[in-house]
Amino acid sequence: MTTNVNTAYSDLVEKLEEISRLGGVMSTLHWDQEVIMPSGAAESRAKQISALAGVIHERSTDPQLGECLDALKKEDPSTFNKFEACNIREAQREYDKETKVPKKLVQEMAELGSRGHFVWIKAREENKFSDFAPTLKRFIEMKKEWAAYVFPDLTPYDANIDNYERGTTMAEIAPIFERLKSELIPLIQSVKEAKHHPDTSFLEGTFPVDKQEALGKQISTDMGFSFDQGRMDVSVHPFCGGGHPTDVRITTRYRDSDFIESLYAVIHETGHGLYEQGRMKEGRDLPVSEALTMGIHESQSLFWERMIAQNKAFCAHYMETFQTTFPNNMQGVSVSALYEAINNCKPSFIRVEADELTYPLHVILRFEIEKGLFDGSVSVDGLPELWNDKMVTYLGVRPPTDTLGVLQDVHWSGGAFGYFPSYTLGAMYACQFYKTMLGELPDTEKYIEEGKFAPIKTWLNEKIHSQGSLYSPQELVQKVTGEPLNPDHFINYLKTKYRAIYQIN
Ligand code: ZN
Repeated sequence: MTTNVNTAYSDLVEKLEEISRLGGVMSTLHWDQEVIMPSGAAESRAKQISALAGVIHERSTDPQLGECLDALKKEDPSTFNKFEACNIREAQREYDKETKVPKKLVQEMAELGSRGHFVWIKAREENKFSDFAPTLKRFIEMKKEWAAYVFPDLTPYDANIDNYERGTTMAEIAPIFERLKSELIPLIQSVKEAKHHPDTSFLEGTFPVDKQEALGKQISTDMGFSFDQGRMDVSVHPFCGGGHPTDVRITTRYRDSDFIESLYAVIHETGHGLYEQGRMKEGRDLPVSEALTMGIHESQSLFWERMIAQNKAFCAHYMETFQTTFPNNMQGVSVSALYEAINNCKPSFIRVEADELTYPLHVILRFEIEKGLFDGSVSVDGLPELWNDKMVTYLGVRPPTDTLGVLQDVHWSGGAFGYFPSYTLGAMYACQFYKTMLGELPDTEKYIEEGKFAPIKTWLNEKIHSQGSLYSPQELVQKVTGEPLNPDHFINYLKTKYRAIYQIN
């Protein structure tokens, strides 16, 4: 490296680290707001968050940052190792995203985002989609405009997808989703018609919250979550936040009538938390160490929630613990019965409550609708009808109200389009990673049955968590599994599993 390049790169690092640290402060403020802040502080907190957001925006659009990037662009790319090249690439991408959009549009989107949220809450409460429709229309127009500024080479919907799952396009997703539809719709139908259904009665009852909390902490610790560098608390919606890999905050919620919901939320969020705690040791305040995409993040939470914790071996290991913790409910329940009960499949209206077999159809429905909204083939006013018709075709149920249909998700009220595919991409990645792990660690299920999760965590740490943002999701999947995303693994997994549980020939 010449001295100049050296200075430009170290200047860049300094600026990026500051932005990342300010972002960490922001995350901590958000966590505080969701978990322990007194409700009377809502207004002052909103102002603090907005002030800090202003500072972060200023730093992220600093012309000097642009000058550093310009200077580095003139250099021979081979001057930089892959760690440095990644920081430069990611910084350029973020800088473009922050600076290419006119300020007026940024402000208008932020304003509609906060106003839209309340419009949506009210429309949902009153079951009145027509009240939300104008907000939705305006957001789509703005997001099309935004796309033209930020990713002019992509179609508007692809640009929105790229925001969450870079490098992934409709052309890649659509055929995979068609494949899922053609396999899963008939499978769900067979499940519905099956003579054998899991008995879930023993999961109903009263489960003291203090015992649920102790159980959740124990299992999270068993999985390898470090409570020296993390916490577990309660919030309305479970999430994984925190300001740094050494300070990872996961949350869950409790209902004393259901321990599975809170426990699996803990396991899910612990999966996200292990990704954060497992980030590369070097450059932890730099883009290179950051978690890759929404889809890859979700692959890590779903890996633990579904591939590990919905596995029979997991039920076998924890059966005795469950029975000791909840003696009134779980006595005499067999491992097979527990395994079947936690994998019960039932088509329902609400995405966030859906099981792993019906979930992809909820996502595909939204993907098709968003695609149509952006290419103009779907009109906002016709959405409730279209939504409900698709629910009948895909899941055999028609939502009786828009509250239980088109108005259920928060995403569109904040202008988050192209986000939904990440959930199902994550589920497919998780399944493909698990299959590769079984090949490389043939004793995986034995480890699970013994409650020995260290080899599993270490594998994920090495192959995925510590890789940060060095590769695109496509490259990472290829590198880890030896092939591109292949929906066959997910389809075969679901078919084998649910045919066995429901005794379908
Ligand atoms: Zn998640």
